[in-house]
Amino acid sequence: SAKKHAPFGFHHILEEGVEEFDRFVQLHKLLKSITESEELSLAFQPQYTNTGEINSFETLIRWNSSVYGWVSPAEFIPLAEETDAIIKIGDWVLANACMAIQELMHLGLQTSVSVNISAKQIVAANFSDKLIDLVTEMKISANMLVLELTETALIVDIALVKQVMNEISKHGFRFSIDDFGTGYSSLAYLKELPISELKIDKYFIDDIEDSENDYVIVDAIIDMAHALGVNSVAEGVETKEQYEYLKRKNCNIYQGYYFSKPVDIQTWREMIAIESNSHENRPDFS
Ligand code: C2E
Ligand code: MG
Ligand code: MG
Ligand code: MG
Repeated sequence: SAKKHAPFGFHHILEEGVEEFDRFVQLHKLLKSITESEELSLAFQPQYTNTGEINSFETLIRWNSSVYGWVSPAEFIPLAEETDAIIKIGDWVLANACMAIQELMHLGLQTSVSVNISAKQIVAANFSDKLIDLVTEMKISANMLVLELTETALIVDIALVKQVMNEISKHGFRFSIDDFGTGYSSLAYLKELPISELKIDKYFIDDIEDSENDYVIVDAIIDMAHALGVNSVAEGVETKEQYEYLKRKNCNIYQGYYFSKPVDIQTWREMIAIESNSHENRPDFS
């Protein structure tokens, strides 16, 4: 086996494995009380309409650990989802997103914000009550929030998820299906759930120009969104060519490095202020 033929390699792998395991254990430990630390923040990535205006933002969690430096949510969110840590983190994100919206309102500005919601969060006890209490307390309108759920989150307990989504949408919150096309989509569920947008995963956007399969899938998702009467949102748009292809296909909303990377909260406010100024200065043809 590997051990017999490559003794040095084996030691190397073993050491790396130990280090990796150690990091895994330490991250789990840190995540338990992460919301009491000052290490979390929110980043905001703008989403544009096909006339180049900012439509809204997606809020993305950031963790600057005193032990490990910046840890990607792609690494720590799945770990948090293994325990109840994700509930506290999810509550923290929602509360802070609402606070950011409230502070913006005090500046006379507004935007809607998408928040990523984990499967465990949506099926947790009192999710809808907590959410409704939160916006009531913060005096913000429910239609300022879009809740992003993955297909995988939907099917954890489809009957329960459907019930919670219906309850929440009655109050004016909107739902988006994130990373659409990568999970187990059942087209039947799509029709039954109160969804307002489909977010095409970056995976399909990446090879739009040269992979026939990918553009066929992108076309189909956009057509399906239109047929369902919901918005199509492209994520991970990195090039002009991708944007132009999507625009030709009448995709509604675009997000990606081609337009902007996620920005910190201060830059977010400035972007909204600039955008709202340019609206005021625009001649009114209505
Ligand atoms: P996601 O919700 O699909 O978010 C999109 C990810 O793609 C973000 O990475 C974003 O920064 C990145 N991205 C956007 N445009 C581009 C692009 O043009 N090129 C490239 N290469 N990347 C792009 P991020 O912030 O690292 O988040 C990764 C994932 O972590 C998210 O995927 C989401 O599943 C999860 N996540 C982030 N914040 C939260 C949160 O507050 N709660 C939960 N439950 N999950 C979160
Ligand atoms: Mg998302
Ligand atoms: Mg996504
Ligand atoms: Mg994605």
